[in-house]
Amino acid sequence: MTAGHGIFFDGAVSARQEAKIALGDTALHVTNPDGRLLAEWPFGEIEEVAAPDGVLRLARRNSGLLARLEIRDAALATAIDERAEAVDRSGSIHRRQRASVIAWSVAATVSLVLLGYYGVPALAERLAPLVPPEVERRLGAAVDMQVRGMLDKNNLGEGFECGARPGEPPGKAAFEKMFGRLERAAALPVPLRPSVIRREEANAIALPGGRIYVFEGLIAKAENPDEVAGVIAHELGHVANRDNTTTLLQGAGLSLLFGMVLGDFVGGGAVVLAARTLLQLSYSRDVELGADRYAARLMDKAGGEVRALGTMLERIGGATEPGAKILLDHPETKARVAAINAVAPKGTPVPFLDAAEWAAMRRICGGR
Ligand SMILES: [Zn+2]
Repeated sequence: MTAGHGIFFDGAVSARQEAKIALGDTALHVTNPDGRLLAEWPFGEIEEVAAPDGVLRLARRNSGLLARLEIRDAALATAIDERAEAVDRSGSIHRRQRASVIAWSVAATVSLVLLGYYGVPALAERLAPLVPPEVERRLGAAVDMQVRGMLDKNNLGEGFECGARPGEPPGKAAFEKMFGRLERAAALPVPLRPSVIRREEANAIALPGGRIYVFEGLIAKAENPDEVAGVIAHELGHVANRDNTTTLLQGAGLSLLFGMVLGDFVGGGAVVLAARTLLQLSYSRDVELGADRYAARLMDKAGGEVRALGTMLERIGGATEPGAKILLDHPETKARVAAINAVAPKGTPVPFLDAAEWAAMRRICGGR
């Protein structure tokens, strides 16, 4: 059985499409009834997402899109199961999960003992680097749903992300070009999923698991592409330093650890608490300085303007994340800018985007 039928949601519009599915040697091909290719997903990048009984619902990992494929045909589902490593209806993933639950139970017990010695904040700093990437990714996905719900006040759903409405795709292409250059230079061990969202604050936020939201207000406040890139580089600093996971462990504390142990974050009170923590957090000065230093070095490595982040920080009062206080002309902001400017660039900067691309990116959320 290497072909069949399913229902495809492209993630841009909510309409469902009848789709033909063919399993190739290395990828799954989705075509519409007329034979037009809708999607081609390598088996290695396919993952299963939650679905009702009798439905196999698939997504492409790290694509940044919300495309879904639903399959009700049991034989076809089994054939996909055999090819896609992350789709596992026969249970080896569950066996692995049980093993990790045992490991986390031990970790939680140890953490309770350690807590007696160090207290939660210090414990979180010690634990964050030990959280396995896969657990961090699951935690990130659960928190992402909550964070999105809290940020998306007008219930725009998929339309909350800029770049898919008429006139917006060129802006999305420019944004992805900029992000790709930073991502390649950063070479982080976690796959990143960046999006621009319809929020007017000049902010950005990185969630555990590689999700990065750039608010449209940040692009509106920037005077050139490197200023946006500088703030994104700062967020990548938080990812690299795992500041977000540390903060989550501090904010939601042991309840989150138990969520990890039970392997089910979704709908848990700990996740709601965690999402609120992320949106209200203001990082300590040391943590922010650490992310700034990382950003300055990354901007240099990526061939961008190292000082652009400092210029942007001065303009927005140092408040890069949603919970941070705006401190215009504050000594703390001045100290951060001075630290960024102290990084001596090795090369001559090349702007992240040309004038036309920058103009397009400024219209990524509908031509404001
Ligand atoms: Zn920050």
